[in-house]
Amino acid sequence: MSSIVLFGPPGAGKGTQAERITETTGLPQISTGDMLRAAVKAGTETGVLAKSYMESGQLVPDEVIIDLIKERITHPDAAHGVMFDGFPRTVPQAEALASITSVSHVIAIEVPDDRIVERICGRYSCGGCGSVYHDTFNPVPENGCDCGSWIEKRRADDNEDTVMSRLSAYHAQTSPLANWYQAKGIFHQIDGNRGIDDITQDILRALE
Ligand SMILES: [Zn+2]
Repeated sequence: MSSIVLFGPPGAGKGTQAERITETTGLPQISTGDMLRAAVKAGTETGVLAKSYMESGQLVPDEVIIDLIKERITHPDAAHGVMFDGFPRTVPQAEALASITSVSHVIAIEVPDDRIVERICGRYSCGGCGSVYHDTFNPVPENGCDCGSWIEKRRADDNEDTVMSRLSAYHAQTSPLANWYQAKGIFHQIDGNRGIDDITQDILRALE
């Protein structure tokens, strides 16, 4: 069994690529955030423990998350590996992960910060149907959204300052991790500042 780790900054198109990777490879996508929420909801032993940390405003310890992953990778759909999304975020997490499963490829989608700011800050959506538009790349038609009910919605945290601080937190956190995986020779940097199909092609080539 051999797994993939996918990472990329917010706004790099990671979600779309994650979908394509799981379709092509057949590896299930594992998001530790989703797993935590599911465990809390199901009231499992780990879920109850995780909930106590969350309710007191603390981060859920790595051991708890590793326990969840350990259990998850015993499921039949994970027999050939999984694709991790949003985990690991730190070197200690990567070390813990390495002790329970082997990672064969780390895919990092890279997009320059200023392009991400441009992508995220120009975004808005239709309050009626949820369609997403963009000031530069995909403006709403002159007569409003096709659904006929047009209310422009912009997220308050999609402004430049917030996005820049999210990006610098992302870089501070992931660069030691990138170095750690680079030293293992399994790190693949993918230029994410291109068309969606080109990015997918590069990722699949790296996974061969
Ligand atoms: Zn609409």
